Amino acid sequence: MSDAQPPKTKPPEWISCQELTEQLLDYVSDTLELEMRGRLERHFKLCPPCFKFLREYRMLPQLCQRTLQHAMPDEAAERLTAFLRARAWDDHDPSGPSTS
Ligand SMILES: [Zn+2]
Repeated sequence: MSDAQPPKTKPPEWISCQELTEQLLDYVSDTLELEMRGRLERHFKLCPPCFKFLREYRMLPQLCQRTLQHAMPDEAAERLTAFLRARAWDDHDPSGPSTS
């Protein structure tokens, strides 16, 4: 009831941000039905956070997208941050941040 606020101009077939997240993998894989695709595109136009999410999502590797698909946006963001951080640390000196 008190989560994300929907935009004022709400089309009849409005899907929630969570529903959109669940469809996002299919959307970026181009396997979505035309009707659902249209709903997502309408959502992106009226919901800047989801549009931003889409742009970032498109840059993610498949594995990451699958993880996100099964998570709520907030939780997904945390997991993604943790995942990317872990990878970044992998590439860096394992002895930790340098304090020169
Ligand atoms: Zn949204």
